[in-house]
Amino acid sequence: MSDEKSQRPVGASSQCPHSDLHFTLNNSGFGDTNLHYLEITARCKICGADIVWRGVSMGMGPDRPGISPDGKELRLPFLAEGEELTGRPIGFSIRRA
Ligand SMILES: [Zn+2]
Repeated sequence: MSDEKSQRPVGASSQCPHSDLHFTLNNSGFGDTNLHYLEITARCKICGADIVWRGVSMGMGPDRPGISPDGKELRLPFLAEGEELTGRPIGFSIRRA
């Protein structure tokens, strides 16, 4: 027997447990590089709240994850196993104070 209330994440709204999230995954690549990004967004299917990612700097680049300015899109750069980065991937990052 499980107690669903104990599984609510810290900081979640008391109105909605956000227990049914819809994740959207998008694979994108730009220009003449083999670098791709996995773009992840999520929304609560119950209350419609967008998920805002935490702990990642704003931006995108080949060396580290980044998030969109509104914090709703997480971008993870990746290559296939064994591949070397080719071309000139675009990228920028903004460090929050
Ligand atoms: Zn919700």
